[in-house]
Amino acid sequence: MVLVLSCVAALMVLRLVAELVLAALNRAEVRRNAAVRPPGVAAIMDEATYGKAVAYTLEKSRFGVVTGIFDTLVLALVVFGGVLPMLYSQVAGWGGPESAWSRALFILIAGVLISIPSLPFEWWEQFRLEQKFGFNKSTAGLWLSDKVKGLLLTFAIGFPLLWALLALVNLAGGNWWIWGFALIFGFQLLMLILYPKLILPLFNKLTPLPAGDLRDRLMALGDRTGFKAQAIEVIDGSKRSGHSNAYFTGFGRFRRIVLFDTLIAQLSPEELEAVLAHEIGHYRRGHIPKMIAMSALLMFGGFAAIAWLARSPWFTPSFGFPPGEIAPAFLLFGLLSGLVTFWFTPLGNLLSRKYEYEADAFAREAMGGAGPMVGALRKLAQKNLTNLTPHRWFSGFYYSHPTLVEREAALAKA
Ligand SMILES: [Zn+2]
Repeated sequence: MVLVLSCVAALMVLRLVAELVLAALNRAEVRRNAAVRPPGVAAIMDEATYGKAVAYTLEKSRFGVVTGIFDTLVLALVVFGGVLPMLYSQVAGWGGPESAWSRALFILIAGVLISIPSLPFEWWEQFRLEQKFGFNKSTAGLWLSDKVKGLLLTFAIGFPLLWALLALVNLAGGNWWIWGFALIFGFQLLMLILYPKLILPLFNKLTPLPAGDLRDRLMALGDRTGFKAQAIEVIDGSKRSGHSNAYFTGFGRFRRIVLFDTLIAQLSPEELEAVLAHEIGHYRRGHIPKMIAMSALLMFGGFAAIAWLARSPWFTPSFGFPPGEIAPAFLLFGLLSGLVTFWFTPLGNLLSRKYEYEADAFAREAMGGAGPMVGALRKLAQKNLTNLTPHRWFSGFYYSHPTLVEREAALAKA
């Protein structure tokens, strides 16, 4: 038992140290380049914007140090402090000895309680840090209503799902985890279709892209690249943040393109076309089913791990729970698996960056040249005050996209 707890504590410290070292290296690299813009960067940002991007990067990083340390302390307190077993005996006791619903409720309540301490930091980030650099467009009322809606959704969707999952454990016997995986994975696929139709409209307004030059261009691009979208919609991202983004959702015949209004405001029609061509590139190169298959594989492994941990006599009792209980095993896995998966972050990002290069190359081909894509990426970097000089280890570890200098170099290659 002591050995298990020591290992978990060591993993917590190791992850925090790795995070802090990477962040410190990154800040040092940004400061080293702060005075003079490096060669590839001078073409992307003017002196004033670059200075702002440096300040924004440093401030976000320092804020990340504070939240990283705080989050680790909260996690340690929750996991080692004995509060979870107390909550478990309370809430699970509301139902019978095998009751699935009360155990589902326990997981949800614990999850919500654990997220409360970080709320002041989320507030600070939005209304102090983002505000300072002109990115915050949200209000206190909107922020609060987002939180309340999120909480209600957690219970409305999470409760029946967890209830079904835990009931399945009781019904299916030793192989429950295969059925559990099928249930949750099936639910995720369903959400890919339902999320933009049912959840997103609760938080944002989606309107069809009005007829005109931009719509004609994007439709023509779709025809040219063999991508038939069911809908092109504009989302009012500007209601919360000045940061811009583009994405498209769904698969099969449920494809929808969702463009942020901030993106439309910032880019020229031709640059928007290039951004969409990049997204279509992900689709045409088969990245999306590959990513879904990969996450399915990981989830399958996760369920196998939970089943094994729940069976192991040393796991749940180490943290003060009765042996062989499945609900605490789920919660502990949810809280602690990140201590292990953190170290595989760079592997996932390596693959993601490979896909980004492929999508960029696709966009270049679809647009008949690299110009529009480069133009779009530069504007996005300027508007979002992107850090153009991350430390090599930092970007290698955390970046799902290559840096802009790397992307431009790849786009310039024949
Ligand atoms: Zn991409």
